[in-house]
Amino acid sequence: MKNVIKKIVAMGLVLSMTGAVAACSKKKGMTVKKGTLTMATNAYFQPYEYYEDSKIVGIDAEIAEKIAEKLGLELKIVDVEFDSIIAGVQSDKYDIGMAGMTVTEDRLKTINFTDSYAKGVQAIIVKEGSEITDADTLLSGDYKVGVQQGTTGDIYLSSSPEDGGVGEDRVVRFSKGNDAVVALSTGKVDAVVIDNEPAKSFVAANSGLTILPTFYTEEDYAICVNKNNQELLDKINQALKELTEDGTIAAIIEKYIPSNS
Ligand code: GLN
Repeated sequence: MKNVIKKIVAMGLVLSMTGAVAACSKKKGMTVKKGTLTMATNAYFQPYEYYEDSKIVGIDAEIAEKIAEKLGLELKIVDVEFDSIIAGVQSDKYDIGMAGMTVTEDRLKTINFTDSYAKGVQAIIVKEGSEITDADTLLSGDYKVGVQQGTTGDIYLSSSPEDGGVGEDRVVRFSKGNDAVVALSTGKVDAVVIDNEPAKSFVAANSGLTILPTFYTEEDYAICVNKNNQELLDKINQALKELTEDGTIAAIIEKYIPSNS
């Protein structure tokens, strides 16, 4: 009898302990789905994220895979519209957003960013032979500019001329960068402002387009994390530090953006 009571008491203890652990991980668990690192991206941003057959590959996908490995988690990549990534991370639908995403003051008001793992610049794409030859011509003339909705290209260009943009009226927004490029090819817009690396792959895939030898802005790419998830932010920063120090990140970037090409 004594033994049975002991057993029951012991079981009760174990049960209440598991309950406590479960409640704890539910309240401030490191990831939204236990054991999984759910990453939201927009997989039309070569070479950072794009489809190879049905698989999402690229610099971000590979770095995320290495981070997940270090954290002992399984990476799950979800492909969504670029401008729904931040809201999804904020509402705990996804653990991280990784999409060649630029750190901006405005975005920092709603989410946290890890340390930066890559740099980007905004490039201007025009038709070959265009009278737009630099950023100044683009800004001062009466040209229509195509951008990808919600990106920094959109944010900068949509701002007023006093703030370095062209104003809303001259900006045409597209949900995918590629749609903006098609609009440029068909003459619906006069230029497209988009991150340089995807710009290169769009130009390579569409004849008659060129990137101006002038950049609009320089930016830092980082991973966004919910403001309430300091633990995940710290762990990713630690992983990024190790992956930078041992050359893994440089090697991944070099694989997709060979420095002597
Ligand atoms: N770097 C840009 C931004 O953060 C574009 C990112 C993207 O289109 N995936 O807004």
